[in-house]
Amino acid sequence: MVKLLPDKQQQEALIDTFVKFNEACNFVSRLAFERKLYNKVLLQKLVYRDIRENFGLAAQLAIRVIAKVVETYKNDKTVMHEFREFGSIVYDQRVMSFKGLDTVSLNTVRGRVRIPMTIGKYRELPLDRIRGQCDLVRRNRIFYLMVVVEVPEEEAISASDVIGVDLGIENIAVDSSGHYYSGDRIAEAGTKHSSLRSRLQACGTRSAKRHLKKLSGKERRFARDVNHVISGEIAERAKGTSSAIALEELKGIRKRTTVGKNRRYRHNSWSFCQLRTFIEYKALESGVPVIGVNAKNTSRECPDCHTVDKRNRPERSIFKCISCGFEGEADFVASLNIRNRAAASQPIVAGAIFDQPLIPQLQAPSVRVG
Ligand SMILES: [Zn+2]
Repeated sequence: MVKLLPDKQQQEALIDTFVKFNEACNFVSRLAFERKLYNKVLLQKLVYRDIRENFGLAAQLAIRVIAKVVETYKNDKTVMHEFREFGSIVYDQRVMSFKGLDTVSLNTVRGRVRIPMTIGKYRELPLDRIRGQCDLVRRNRIFYLMVVVEVPEEEAISASDVIGVDLGIENIAVDSSGHYYSGDRIAEAGTKHSSLRSRLQACGTRSAKRHLKKLSGKERRFARDVNHVISGEIAERAKGTSSAIALEELKGIRKRTTVGKNRRYRHNSWSFCQLRTFIEYKALESGVPVIGVNAKNTSRECPDCHTVDKRNRPERSIFKCISCGFEGEADFVASLNIRNRAAASQPIVAGAIFDQPLIPQLQAPSVRVG
């Protein structure tokens, strides 16, 4: 998400372009709906000249108007679609070009404008990794370009073990090698990361979005920094030990989530989802396979004798098997179960044993009632 820093005049040019672009969308939408005409090529013949003349849009933006309208009617042709004044605009290389890493040139209804921008975390990345197409959006009166950056993935390591990671209630994360990840020291380190809010929106559940709104900017940034650091540590540890990472399937995590009262690090579906996403993409970046496992009863199963029972958890943070007496800290025990489930599901062949990056579902463990 690249923030644009337009001066007053440039800002007006952008606002004008948004308004004209979306007015043109409404014009085309009405016509398309009235004539039941949803074919891009036919529509273009009909409206192209009008868009250019009446709305002052460049050729490529006129094409974008038509494409945007056609796209929305693909989902629903039963009602006429209306477009908001500041609906997003797709820019491609014909109407946009980056001038180094701090300026972008955009075509507007007032001609080309060169707008300063801040590119955040990706300052170190070469421009050729920026993919051609960006969405221009306006949020809270600020303009952003949503830039897609290609990050090279390392070749997958051949994993010889699995690290189970429990995104716990008492701890942010615990892994099956016994490492606990907490947010305490992270605030002191003062790490800074760019906005990755768009990542979160990929976890687009309603409740995730609600949580996102509720958190203040400061809390959100803190939680994000925590998630960045922890996910990086987990990916590094996995790589260093030639291990794959096993995580619970998201569905199960959400169910277990509870929000603590006085915790600096807020555990909620939003934060879990983000941490999980970060672990996945950091693993991918460093060639570490990620395995998803069924989350059912990971906190109630005994990793030793596999008894599953609610009573195995006499207290929130304690696991004690009612059958064989195996004892441990609850989140750590869960991480062992996650590890075991992932390992059991993998075909053990010499060399690379994890061909598939993500295995969505594993069989539930056999249940013995103690
Ligand atoms: Zn047991």
